[in-house]
Amino acid sequence: MATPRDHLINDEDYRALENVSKKLAAGMEVIGRTGAEFTQVRFCDEDEPTLWMAYARYPDGGQQVAAALDLEEAVMRLCAQLINGGSCRHCHRGTGFTPRGLTTAVLDLSDICLTFWDDDAQAFTQACRA
Ligand SMILES: [Zn+2]
Repeated sequence: MATPRDHLINDEDYRALENVSKKLAAGMEVIGRTGAEFTQVRFCDEDEPTLWMAYARYPDGGQQVAAALDLEEAVMRLCAQLINGGSCRHCHRGTGFTPRGLTTAVLDLSDICLTFWDDDAQAFTQACRA
């Protein structure tokens, strides 16, 4: 019988997993850049469908978690949860996160420091540091 502990995946195990997408790994780095001292992904398959969770713990004791039906979506949701509505420590604009590329045609980015997916770099980039 599996215990909840059997479902834990720590940072090192996670990075060692084969077939981890670049976006997923980059999302975990984004979570780390928010100051998290510990990040983890977990799954629960005790019932259908399997649920995936992304978790972050902060030095001040704060904790955040997001869940989805697949691992990458859980990590993207936690990134959005952590970044949307924050304040950029570099440009001091409000912060936003999108797991997609920069689409200036539909977004007015003058008031938002958006963290977006840079397909060329295969990484998440902050608008003010692009
Ligand atoms: Zn900024």
